[in-house]
Amino acid sequence: MESDRTRERRYAEASARVRVRVPAKVNLFLAVRGLRDDGYHELVSIMQTVGIHDTVTVELEGGESACRHPAVRRFMELKFSHDGGPGVPDDERNLAVRAAHLLMRATGTGTADPDGHSGGPDVVPATRVDLSKRIPVAAGMAGGSADAAATLVGLNRLWECGLDRDELRELAAELGADVPFCVTGGTALATGTGTATAQVLARGPFHWVVGMSRTPLSTPEVYRVFDEVGQPTEREPDAVLQALRTGDGEALGDALHNDLEVAAFTLRPELEAARDAMLAEGALGAVVSGSGPTVVALAESDRQARELAAAMTDRFDRVEVAASPAAGPEVSDLR
Ligand code: ATP
Repeated sequence: MESDRTRERRYAEASARVRVRVPAKVNLFLAVRGLRDDGYHELVSIMQTVGIHDTVTVELEGGESACRHPAVRRFMELKFSHDGGPGVPDDERNLAVRAAHLLMRATGTGTADPDGHSGGPDVVPATRVDLSKRIPVAAGMAGGSADAAATLVGLNRLWECGLDRDELRELAAELGADVPFCVTGGTALATGTGTATAQVLARGPFHWVVGMSRTPLSTPEVYRVFDEVGQPTEREPDAVLQALRTGDGEALGDALHNDLEVAAFTLRPELEAARDAMLAEGALGAVVSGSGPTVVALAESDRQARELAAAMTDRFDRVEVAASPAAGPEVSDLR
């Protein structure tokens, strides 16, 4: 067993500031199988991380290493900030805050009330969680889920909780369907309501043009319209899986598919025109990601992606070029 001294030294040497870069996801395939008795839709989807990142920085206020000691950690306070503007909540509704609180409960961090405790520290230690957003909000790119995953990974490191990735994924599942995938990244086949995921083999890189819209689309609204105008399909993801396995961009472009597209196009017809424009400009394929409004187009090279992006600037509020699959959450210690 680790001695008190060794542990103190480990705490003292550990970083008081940790940064996690976390990628967005795109859906390469999404089929809606139907409505379940509990009101959720049964899905089959293939998600892949793509190189547009949010950054979560977690920091012990004042850098006090003693804050990590489990006895002191019980008194931890949480402070949260972000640069995401008015569309991003700054309280418990933010998935990053919910993730922090979930990890706190799971590890006994911040669970003691300093006022009602005689043995508590004189100054209650605090952890700052700061979120820098580049992933568009409510855009079908799992931005909130990515932030939750990054917060779990970052705080696990900062507080030295010692949870492994599987344990973090288990906690992540309590926060939302896409969060466990965001803890790992890569490429995954998701079934059920999206919670059951299995990693799949994908060669790459693939080069994307990501067309983003400032006006969000609400996921529940898209599903509501889908129930009116869409049809559940029996379509299978085999062609996408095969294209990913062989790294065949042309085949992947042909196989991209999203049943929710019809609902997103009904709500926002200009998205269909934008998708068609991407195809007319020579994209290998183009599709709405998740519940939209982001539209992604696959190009045959980074160069073609840049040319295509330049041609699309009038169609979207923001256009970026990004490669997939992107590595999952990347952690760096900042001293
Ligand atoms: P998905 O692809 O999983 O459907 P999304 O990318 O469409 O997700 P998010 O960016 O996660 O959607 O935002 C959906 C809503 O969640 C926002 O409108 C916002 O109110 C709320 N939200 C909670 N936490 C966050 C966060 N960290 N970043 C952005 N939005 C958040």
